[in-house]
Amino acid sequence: QAKKAGKDRVEIFEPAMQAAFQAGLQLEADLRRAVVRHEFTLRYQPIVHLRTGEITGLEALIRWQHPDRGTIPPLDFIPLAEETGMIVQIGEWVLREACRQAATWNARREGLRPLSVSVNLSAIQLDQTDLPETVAQALADSGLPASCLVLELTESLLVDHRSSTLRQLMRIKELGVRLAIDDFGTGYSSLAYLRRFPVDIIKIDKSFVDEVGDVPAAAALTLGIIQLGQALSLSTIAEGIEDAGQLNELADGNCELGQGYYFAEPLTEKAVGELLFPQR
Ligand code: C2E
Ligand code: MG
Ligand code: MG
Ligand code: MG
Repeated sequence: QAKKAGKDRVEIFEPAMQAAFQAGLQLEADLRRAVVRHEFTLRYQPIVHLRTGEITGLEALIRWQHPDRGTIPPLDFIPLAEETGMIVQIGEWVLREACRQAATWNARREGLRPLSVSVNLSAIQLDQTDLPETVAQALADSGLPASCLVLELTESLLVDHRSSTLRQLMRIKELGVRLAIDDFGTGYSSLAYLRRFPVDIIKIDKSFVDEVGDVPAAAALTLGIIQLGQALSLSTIAEGIEDAGQLNELADGNCELGQGYYFAEPLTEKAVGELLFPQR
């Protein structure tokens, strides 16, 4: 009956499209099952003080352990989770699990500076009016101090913000939680929102870090972002450091913190335990 379709009807019966459509439906059904059956797990990537090499915190990064397809990275399912609204439930799990895990590690680190844990937040989550309560509950249930939690937001989330976004962020800030801008420099960077929103940390996108050692313009921009951070009393974290050249360039430029494969890739909970508590 596709042949009879009027000119304004969408043809979904072309075989390749049909296959893609089916695959999308399958993924959605799988994702619904994954939420019910708790098929998600977190990896933790250390965030390191560039001058001392000390680990100051960890970023929680979600993985989907699919029963047939193996480990699925976030970029392959987070967009669908956002479209379907499932990100709200998934995101709450991430928040609670990351807080619980960080509190457990900190309890074993008596006498040492507590580690912070960073959790990525999606715009859909910020649209939920009860997000501040959800965050407060995750902190209360885990016992993690609010000062140890960082929520990462993307630039686009702030640029396309709703009128409620600022109020939501203020309420979260009142808890004592810190906010970071993720992938800084990749969006329509309006510097105005650095003043408007109560941000504490700038995460310099990997695309700058990649070229910092060999492209003068990239180095200049990176140093400029670090200085901007300093001028506004914000911490700077360089993302995706992969070699010593990049590290030296960033440390010389007074970038405070960094993360990347040069230090460690995202690690399992067990591997982090071995890294933090080597003798046990
Ligand atoms: P992101 O928050 O910018 O996280 C950094 C990504 O860069 C991670 O990818 C990390 O594994 C990768 N990475 C870190 N160091 C290096 C490096 O030296 N080289 C290279 N090539 N890559 C490095 P991942 O884990 O695949 O996550 C991708 C994105 O998915 C994240 O980007 C974040 O936007 C999103 N995401 C991850 N977990 C969550 C979550 O729990 N909730 C939400 N809403 N989004 C999440
Ligand atoms: Mg992030
Ligand atoms: Mg990032
Ligand atoms: Mg990214």
